[in-house]
Amino acid sequence: MLNGKEEEYVMDAVTSTWISSTGAYIDRFERMFAEFCGTTYAVSCVNGTAALHLALLAHGVQPGDEIIVPTVTFVATANAVTYCGAMPVFVDSQPDTWNIDPAQIEEKISPRTKGIICVSLYGHPADMEPVLRIAAKRGLFVIEDAAEAFGAMYQGKRVGSIGHSAIFSFYGNKIISTGEGGMVVTNDERIAKAARMYRGQGSDGERKYWFPEVGYNYRMTNVAAAIGCAQLERAEWHIDRRRRIASWYREQLEGCPLVQLPVQKEGTFNVYWLFSVVLHEYTEDRRQKLMDRLSERGIETRPFFYPLHILPPYRHLQPLRDFPVANRICAQGINLPTYAALREEDVTDICGCLIELLENDQSDERGAS
Ligand SMILES: *Cc1c(COP(=O)(O)O)cnc(C)c1O
Repeated sequence: MLNGKEEEYVMDAVTSTWISSTGAYIDRFERMFAEFCGTTYAVSCVNGTAALHLALLAHGVQPGDEIIVPTVTFVATANAVTYCGAMPVFVDSQPDTWNIDPAQIEEKISPRTKGIICVSLYGHPADMEPVLRIAAKRGLFVIEDAAEAFGAMYQGKRVGSIGHSAIFSFYGNKIISTGEGGMVVTNDERIAKAARMYRGQGSDGERKYWFPEVGYNYRMTNVAAAIGCAQLERAEWHIDRRRRIASWYREQLEGCPLVQLPVQKEGTFNVYWLFSVVLHEYTEDRRQKLMDRLSERGIETRPFFYPLHILPPYRHLQPLRDFPVANRICAQGINLPTYAALREEDVTDICGCLIELLENDQSDERGAS
């Protein structure tokens, strides 16, 4: 939602004629963002996918490397690995948080493994402590894909400040947006420097038109950064909105035995990018029918992501049987409407409708058997 100084700052950027990829808003957005996350550096870029690509390049990922990735995430997490000529190696999910299961990481590590990407799915922080322990023991880097978890916290620290680097997305449906946009954050000066270099065609900034490496044009514009500054000024409002919506859903659905709600783990602060539920005992077909019926009543829901290990570019890599939890939750999960303008009475209506359809479904099943 654009309810801060977005228009004022964009007009200011346009009036100043600094509309391209240099300007005061870019510096300000990066400074404010690093401060918000509690990191030393923030490097803005065109989108979250580019931010992942930059982070992987900055950590030195090369063709032939393997990177551990949760199978339940948005496809960009694995695609960025593929851009580097590296291979994603997928890991199944925890049944309660739906995030990468740290207990299954070590068995996937090979001599080619260089790092681990943790994703804080739908706003719930990934379980970083065991992942960092494994990474330290095996000499791997850890990137947090925090695209969906702006403002979330894990053991008192902001998501994004826990791994060796982290990325965020400012796509239109994310918690804060710049239209399209992304950010790499880190406390490691070398990572920040390398990310800046790859962002700007591989220039190290020392000699004009001298490019020590092949880089990319991944820079954010000053206009996008102007929107980002306005969004960031109201960060607490954006986060609070999501959490309030989640509390309404929780209140309405808590007593319903037919759905699994997002877990509330001690030491985590979930920002509920999307409020999601897993429908016990459902198949993918039955879920689709339920979503169709919700849609007929004007309620737009989304299925969970397909697990990446079944998508055509990646399905030859690992067998289906490696991912029992992901296979189940991705067939049974739905994201309920979650956006800043949603009102409490909307949530009441949505939940009333959902519970009614679920209960009808139950009695149909019983009748059929
Ligand atoms: C949105 C998202 C991205 C990619 O961000 P874009 O800005 O759309 O490129 C990466 N990872 C996850 C988990 C996402 O949800």
